[in-house]
Amino acid sequence: MSGLRVIVGCKRVIDYAVKIRVKPDKLGVVTDGVKHSMNPFDEIAVEEAVRMKEKKLASEIIAVSCGPTQCQETLRTAMAMGADKSIHVEVDAATYENLQPLHVAKILAKVAQDEKADIVFTGKQAIDDDCNQTGQMVAALLDWPQATFASKVEKANGDLTVTREIDGGLETIKVKLPAVLTADLRLNEPRYATLPNIMKAKKKPMAKKKPADYGVDVAPRQSILKVEDPPVRQAGSKLDSVETLVGKLKDAGLVPS
Ligand code: AMP
Repeated sequence: MSGLRVIVGCKRVIDYAVKIRVKPDKLGVVTDGVKHSMNPFDEIAVEEAVRMKEKKLASEIIAVSCGPTQCQETLRTAMAMGADKSIHVEVDAATYENLQPLHVAKILAKVAQDEKADIVFTGKQAIDDDCNQTGQMVAALLDWPQATFASKVEKANGDLTVTREIDGGLETIKVKLPAVLTADLRLNEPRYATLPNIMKAKKKPMAKKKPADYGVDVAPRQSILKVEDPPVRQAGSKLDSVETLVGKLKDAGLVPS
């Protein structure tokens, strides 16, 4: 099973450490001048693909990002981590705000066919929209098996054995290739790109495409009606005794008096 070709979806998202602010029109969040990074689960997917290459299971890793020009930085990061080449599917900033998992899934599925991929690897979810849909949709579009929420991936003859994080614990499944995998948090700890590798990544090939090149119409199929901040949490208070606590709970009607 040597020489697997792996496509990795790399979404550019607002950095996880940024405090999100809702736009005054309440139709989105402020993105201008805000730090962006590769979606953390996608870094994990890239790392796993690179480890597969280091173990000589994979032969080529192709990072794909759909979005505005700045996605090229995300792709350079993926290539500095070890991806061999990348494809930037340009979607302007306004369209990107309404780009939905089905649009991205159609593009990734088409790239997988064009590149004769054996694996499409995505993050389990993007931390901006929390959709957790794209990988599953790619599998449906290609009619490939899927192993989502992967926390361990091993080769087993011609197949992959994948341990999945599920509500009740861990589930181990076998999937035939070609397949779609989605990366969960415990799959690995992604490496930092070193300076020499960042320099090398500048010379790696990056193809520039548009959704139309893949025959994909990115017109929105849904519209955002309202974006709101989560309710503000009430401040807690320190009480000096259990009796005061019970009294307060009774006053609030949370325990019978
Ligand atoms: P989602 O279904 O939006 O939660 O995204 C799940 C995964 O799909 C992400 O972790 C990425 O790997 C991939 N993905 C989603 N949107 C994009 C995008 N615009 N470009 C590349 N990959 C994406």
